Amino acid sequence: MNRTKSNELYTEALNYFPGGVNSPVRAFRSVGGTPLFIKKGKGAHIWDADGNEFIDYCASWGPLILGHANDTVLKKVSEVMYNGTSFGAPTELENELAKLIISNNKYVEKIRFVSSGTEAVMSAIRLARGYTGKSKILKFEGCYHGHSDSLLVKAGSGLVTFGNSSSAGVPESVVNDTIVVSLNNKDAVTKAFEQFGNDIACIIIEPIPANNGLLLQDKDYLQFLRDITKQYKSLLIFDEVISGFRVGFEGAAGYYEITPDIVTYGKIIGGGFPVGAYGASKEIMSNISPDGAVYQAGTLSGNPVAMAAGIAQLSECLKPNFYKNLADKTKQLVDGIQAAYTNKNIPFKIHAIGSIFWIAFSNDNIKTAEAIDSDSMKHFRLLHAALLENGVYLGPSGYEVGFIGEAHTQQDLEKTIAAFAKAFEVLA
Ligand SMILES: *Cc1c(COP(=O)(O)O)cnc(C)c1O
Repeated sequence: MNRTKSNELYTEALNYFPGGVNSPVRAFRSVGGTPLFIKKGKGAHIWDADGNEFIDYCASWGPLILGHANDTVLKKVSEVMYNGTSFGAPTELENELAKLIISNNKYVEKIRFVSSGTEAVMSAIRLARGYTGKSKILKFEGCYHGHSDSLLVKAGSGLVTFGNSSSAGVPESVVNDTIVVSLNNKDAVTKAFEQFGNDIACIIIEPIPANNGLLLQDKDYLQFLRDITKQYKSLLIFDEVISGFRVGFEGAAGYYEITPDIVTYGKIIGGGFPVGAYGASKEIMSNISPDGAVYQAGTLSGNPVAMAAGIAQLSECLKPNFYKNLADKTKQLVDGIQAAYTNKNIPFKIHAIGSIFWIAFSNDNIKTAEAIDSDSMKHFRLLHAALLENGVYLGPSGYEVGFIGEAHTQQDLEKTIAAFAKAFEVLA
């Protein structure tokens, strides 16, 4: 495969950006080699700067559930764009997107639009603290919630710990308010509440943890989190930046039928533009400025072009059988790949829910971050490179999930299974 142009662009980019990129995982560090520079996308396919074509399962890390350059989204965006791209004043489009969401999602009564998932989560945490008057938060090892200070905290040793910062530049004073425990562990959560219960403002969880492998939790565990937060007058935040509008229009809350106090969205909600949101009951949302005392604002919040993209994309998601078709295609792909894997020496299992899948070189049902064998990532590195050679683009890390979208055709799925079968030869 000729990658001359991508390599030239990457060499140039190294002069401009740390690591040559504007978001770290794009740098291909965990799979080795250099990133492909993407020139265009259409449907489920992308083309790099050298003209190589790939079937894409990264989907911009999740937002593009309809595929690239979707005609319906583009049409709506261009209609709106020519009337001006930002006003810093309300537009009808914000009402339209909010109405579309609220009238089809029983877990949200009021919503606030922001510009990224990070911002949505950061604001939700502030709201939980403002509403409860408590200061600590409890998060789980293996869940990602964006890059705000309080959430860049990883577990220390021990069952219940104040974490260690997972980034330089996060002050200890902030870390000391974040408790980190393992997923799928009721004892750890119970102990944390016994110890700090009266000061825990919220539990935050990805109800479908999909940023560090796909660590599917039992419904019973999520219900336990719902119950214990109620008991201690603490809030439950579902970070649905990935799972929202992905496993169903009502996200994981609807999938498991568990009502969180606050939900955060991002990715799909913006139709490929930078949008995030957080929502809750009217009562909880009444604490947000200018109604309430919790301050949160944004120059480009509710941006009309981004709202237009969100409206167009979410309207498609509401069509009959949209999610069923995605899940059917995902099952077909996952079963096909699994059947093509005949290597008896290295275990291999694809985990999936809805249209999200994750490749693990293990036979186990992995439910916690600690259960992932980091050494198995050497197999993913080989697989990733071989798949690129065979025209399939996965996100460049074995800890990342893949996404199926409406644009993936039968032919794409069959070609992908064949590409995997060929790529598996390098593992043998
Ligand atoms: C992607 C993601 C975020 C961060 O969103 P950005 O738009 O990248 O800031 C937060 N939480 C979850 C669950 C995510 O998947």
